[in-house]
Amino acid sequence: MFADSFGSMVFNEKVMRDALSSESFKRLMKIRHEGMPMDDKTLADEVAEAMKKWAVSKGATHYTHWFQPMTGATAEKHDSFLDRDSDGNPILELSGKTLLKGESDASSFPSGGMRETFEARGYTVWDPTSDAFIREDTLCIPTSFGSFDGAVLDKKTPLLRSVETLNTQAVRLLRTFGIETKYVYPSVGLEQEYFLINKEDCAKRRDLILTERTLFGAPTPKGQVLEDHYYGTIRPRVKAFMKELDDELWKVGIYSKTEHNEVAPCQHEMAPIFARSNIAVDENQLTMDIMKKVANRHGFVCLLHEKPFEGINGSGKHNNWSISTAEGENLMNPGKEPEKNIKFLLFITAVIKAVDDYQVLLRISVSSAGNDRRLGGNEAPPAIISMYLGDRLRTIIASIISGSDLETETKKAALTVKNDDRNRTSPFAFTGNKFEFRMPGSAENVSCTNYVLNTIVAESLKQFADRLEPFAGKENFESEVRKLIREELTAHERILFEGNGYSKEWVKEAKRRGLAAFKSTPEAFEHFDDEKNIELLVSHGILNKEEIKARKVIGFTKYNNIINVEARTMLLMAEKDIVPAAIKYSSELAYGIESKQALQLDVEHELKLVSDINEHVKALMLNNETLRSVLDSQPTDPMKQGMNAYKKIVPVMEEERRIVDELELLVDKNSWPYPDYTDMLYYV
Ligand code: ADP
Ligand code: MG
Repeated sequence: MFADSFGSMVFNEKVMRDALSSESFKRLMKIRHEGMPMDDKTLADEVAEAMKKWAVSKGATHYTHWFQPMTGATAEKHDSFLDRDSDGNPILELSGKTLLKGESDASSFPSGGMRETFEARGYTVWDPTSDAFIREDTLCIPTSFGSFDGAVLDKKTPLLRSVETLNTQAVRLLRTFGIETKYVYPSVGLEQEYFLINKEDCAKRRDLILTERTLFGAPTPKGQVLEDHYYGTIRPRVKAFMKELDDELWKVGIYSKTEHNEVAPCQHEMAPIFARSNIAVDENQLTMDIMKKVANRHGFVCLLHEKPFEGINGSGKHNNWSISTAEGENLMNPGKEPEKNIKFLLFITAVIKAVDDYQVLLRISVSSAGNDRRLGGNEAPPAIISMYLGDRLRTIIASIISGSDLETETKKAALTVKNDDRNRTSPFAFTGNKFEFRMPGSAENVSCTNYVLNTIVAESLKQFADRLEPFAGKENFESEVRKLIREELTAHERILFEGNGYSKEWVKEAKRRGLAAFKSTPEAFEHFDDEKNIELLVSHGILNKEEIKARKVIGFTKYNNIINVEARTMLLMAEKDIVPAAIKYSSELAYGIESKQALQLDVEHELKLVSDINEHVKALMLNNETLRSVLDSQPTDPMKQGMNAYKKIVPVMEEERRIVDELELLVDKNSWPYPDYTDMLYYV
């Protein structure tokens, strides 16, 4: 039964093989796997007809070009298959032309100011590397999205291009070893964390409705101190949600594999089996969408925000990353004797070099208003990028750098290095045969993270191939490789760190090493169009200069918009709900005090409470004014707005929260207008 339903809603290779002529099937597979341009009209007609027949047989009546604009969400516009034939009769139709290209209004999506220079018309173009699938009654065709005159306006296109450049450079480098491979591709496994809370609780809180996080909320007495939730028994309601989530994901061919409770109460995780990087990202976008819809059917709201609750662990999306050959060799697999495996050491060196050289770009790729609240919070990776390799590999590398004997190095290491193979505090850890990048936020579309990863590694590989090609097949090839590895590891050793990434000492040490440390999105995003980054992205054909500048504007604008919505929501809640509730409650107390005084009772403690509430209300009303005034006096330039939001608005929001959270503890629970943290986090 399971075997029948898995992938039943996907137009996958198995279906294609049956539905297409063997000649067409072969051509399509070449296009899919080797990144050939898709410009064959006859082939497109045949695929479109097969796709439509299959979709209609599954009950679909509509199709959509499914794409990923710069909002970070997915977008779709539905058309029905319905058409009129020449005799005026209704027919169901999907032409090759429609499959290949769709028209869309580009002016309604973020363009970062490029709108002035291009036409409003935009195009969606079929991405044959990703399978079409059916949701409800609609055939979803994965596409990339650009403007009429070719500007890239989506998250997918740069990712597809980065897969290509990584392939080109890796194949070149392998060739210097005398290895011929059809192609090389990055594989990615994304662990998705999320919170489930009751729909009724969410409906009572404007902050959750409008911003997906609690802008106010005093901590619960329990918090997560008992650490009893991690891998704990799953609540029956949550279990039912997970089961339906799996069913839905399996139907669209997503290999949902692991489901468990996370550290925080109400926090859970789903990890699928890894896939090619662009597919993994598509699947993750779809997964997030399905999670929200399934949650709703179970009386839950699924919160994907990076930090829904203050003082409680936030959510990330661990990006497990590796590269493999078409023939199935994982190039990050150390084998039994890594010290002797120079190919493996060279590829690992390429990643170390890439992460060190482009740590700023990587940091930018995980920046968002939501993730700012999570990174460096003593529970998530610090905002500084460093790499952890594990004892064994670190020892090998130390011996390469020092030129010493591995045995001596191993003995030294045994004395100094703590013997655990896991370092949970590292943002970028080698985990046996892949790297785990832990900084991406749970809500993000991780295309950017992955095109940056692929491209920076492609750049290392390119430099290595340039240097090694003249030695290929020569006697001194191996010694040249060793020399190169040693030089590069020596140059980039500063990015390797085995200690506690959450500690204060590390912040100082990282500074001493000259590593980049950006606390906030605007501070990181400032560097997106640094000469070095432009040079990298342009030379690998990922984005042009104008597109990079536009993405910087989009980054700032998005950040600014989020802070503004949050700040205005705070004001709304404070003025409409919290101040009135606190005044009403303290007035009731005051009446009570009057009556008690008439009876000559001691009311000193009650007076203190009323006066405490009064003081807080006063402070809150004053802070409301400050918040309103910083909101009303913002610069007009989007770049300045982002930095202004961070420097001027965020601190006032923090003060607002501090006052309200104290006030919450003074006011009677029945008078408080919202469900509190205990209500929300400890439901049954
Ligand atoms: P953790 O110990 O961090 O929970 P898991 O062993 O559960 O990690 O795996 C995490 C993710 O890594 C899964 O999605 C898995 O499919 C993925 N993964 C495993 N091997 C690779 C690989 N070669 N490339 C990319 N991702 C991989
Ligand atoms: Mg993990």
